[in-house]
Formats: sequence, C-alpha cells, structure tokens
Amino acid sequence: MTFFDPSTGQWQGCASGAPVGPRAAAVSSRRALGPSRLVGFAYSLNPYRGCAHACSYCYSPEVIRDYRPWGTWLQARIDLPRTLARELRTLPRGRIGLGTVTDPYQPAEEGLRLTRRCLALIIGAGWPVSVQSKGTLMLRDLDLLASAPSGTADIGWSLSGTPPELVPLVEPLGAPPQRRLAALAQTAAEGIDTWAYFAPLIPGVSDEGVLQDQVSTLATSGVKRVFADPLRMRGQIHARLVAALAHELPQAARRLEDLGFVRSEGERLRQTVRQLCADHGLTFDAEGPFVEASPFEAFSPQRVPLPSRSESFLVQEPPWDS
Ligand code: SF4
Repeated sequence: MTFFDPSTGQWQGCASGAPVGPRAAAVSSRRALGPSRLVGFAYSLNPYRGCAHACSYCYSPEVIRDYRPWGTWLQARIDLPRTLARELRTLPRGRIGLGTVTDPYQPAEEGLRLTRRCLALIIGAGWPVSVQSKGTLMLRDLDLLASAPSGTADIGWSLSGTPPELVPLVEPLGAPPQRRLAALAQTAAEGIDTWAYFAPLIPGVSDEGVLQDQVSTLATSGVKRVFADPLRMRGQIHARLVAALAHELPQAARRLEDLGFVRSEGERLRQTVRQLCADHGLTFDAEGPFVEASPFEAFSPQRVPLPSRSESFLVQEPPWDS
C-alpha cells in the first residue's frame, strides 16, 4: 500500500516514491445495483469502495460510514460484473449512476477493468447510464460510450474552481484540472454527451477567477451542460478540510466553522457559475447529475484544533497517473 506519511512528508510504500494508490482488496457483493437518492437515477453502481484520489472534501466516507484514513485503502467488488449481468436481466430497467459514491476510474481500474466490464454490460443491455470521474482513465472507455444508443449514455468530469496551488491540498491525487478540461473537450469532440460538474464549490477555496477561466475553456470545448453544487458540510468533512487547509490557509480553515458562511458563500459561488454559463452561452442546470435531493443535513461544526504542519495532509508535488 502507498500512503502519505505526514511525519516525513514523503510517500511511502513504493520504490519510485510516486503513489499509485492503495492495493485493492477483493471483496464480493450480493448486489450490484443499489437504489439511488440522486435526482434522475433509479440505481447507483460503484465498483470500488474507497478512493485513491483522496479528496479532502469527499462525501464518500460519510455515505459508506467508513472512517479509516481516506485514500489509504481500497476494496474492489471483484464479482460485480457477474452480479450486474443477472440484475440487468431481472430488475426493472432504470437509469444508472456509475460512480455515485466513489470514483470508478481510479488507478486500480487500469488493471482490474471492473468499471469497463460493467459499462459494457449496461450499454449492451441498452440501459441508460451516466458516469462521473476525476480521472482521465475514463477516456479509455470512450469506445464503449460512443457505441451506446443515442441519448442513453453521458459522462462528466468534476471541477471545483480551486486555484492550482491549492489543488494538492484538496484533491491531491485526481487528474489535475487542466487534464480534466482537456478530457472534457476530447469527449465532446467525439460526439458523446458530456457535462462538467462544479462540485463541490468550496467556500474560501474556490476562486472566481479560476471559475471564469474554467467556464471559458468549457465554452470553447463543445461541452453543452454545466452543473454546480456547493460544499455540503456533514460528518467528518469539516475536520478533514480543516486538516488539509490548516497550514496554507488557516483563515479559510477557521471560516469553515461558520455554517452560515459556508451556506451563503457556497450559494454565491453557485450563482457565479450560473452567471458565467449565461455569459458564455452554456446551459446551466442546478438539478443535474449527481445532485442530491436534500442539499444540507443537520450539522454542527465542532471547533477542530488546527494541526501542526507535520500533521497536515500537505502534498507538495501532486503525482497522478490516471
Ligand atoms: S474522486 Fe470523488 S470519490 Fe474519489 S476522493 Fe475525490 S471526491 Fe471522493
């Protein structure tokens, strides 16, 4: 397993020093498709439990209620294609969100090809599917997506409007935003229904100038639809974000304790994206893919002691290979 050791400031566990993510442990699951709470989806499908991209704002630990250090462990639902094949024959047909909880195109997928096999089954059965990732490995499967019947498959990459120097703090191991923007353009150019999802918009981190640049790039890339969703503070997200931001942005870390600020600034950022889309002729949809029906859960931020530099999850040079 590869992991970031905050006491040494080094990645541990592989000879090159470049993290390739945790080794996936194989697990089996009796069900493949789960009911989805997301708007527009009948089912969710997640080939992996855990995520090597290790975003500090990730909601997934709260969804799966597993609070081991995020990004240091991974389970692959190794028999998922077989289970899915059976369910596609027996369950009522409905739209599937692929990667609703964890990224389906994290590094382990390159060798395991679980997501690819599931996608082939879904498209082969003619079921509608929507896929989201932060990894450019999704480009590998454009051949499958291009073969889907018209109007049944769409894909998107998420962005957060985070300034480049802060990306290593909040989304250290996903593909860099510029790579995601290039992937969006490539996919749209191939005629596949492609959307961009600004999520989460992080109060105190997401930057209007960066949002302007990213929306402007999208407008020239052929991407037609844009969605946006502000940070939803819940569970341990606050503590993880504070740990990530504490050294470089201590004021921003402190402001995250103010739930009123988090809500109002998050909404302001969403309206900023809405206006930028209007300015650039892009369709903005606040109710788009992967947006939950209920935006905020009850949450009372606890005052979290700001960690020292040796305890913060600072990654100096964000490595990635997906
Ligand atoms: S890529 Fe998605 S699932 Fe993975 S850590 Fe980041 S937000 Fe969570």
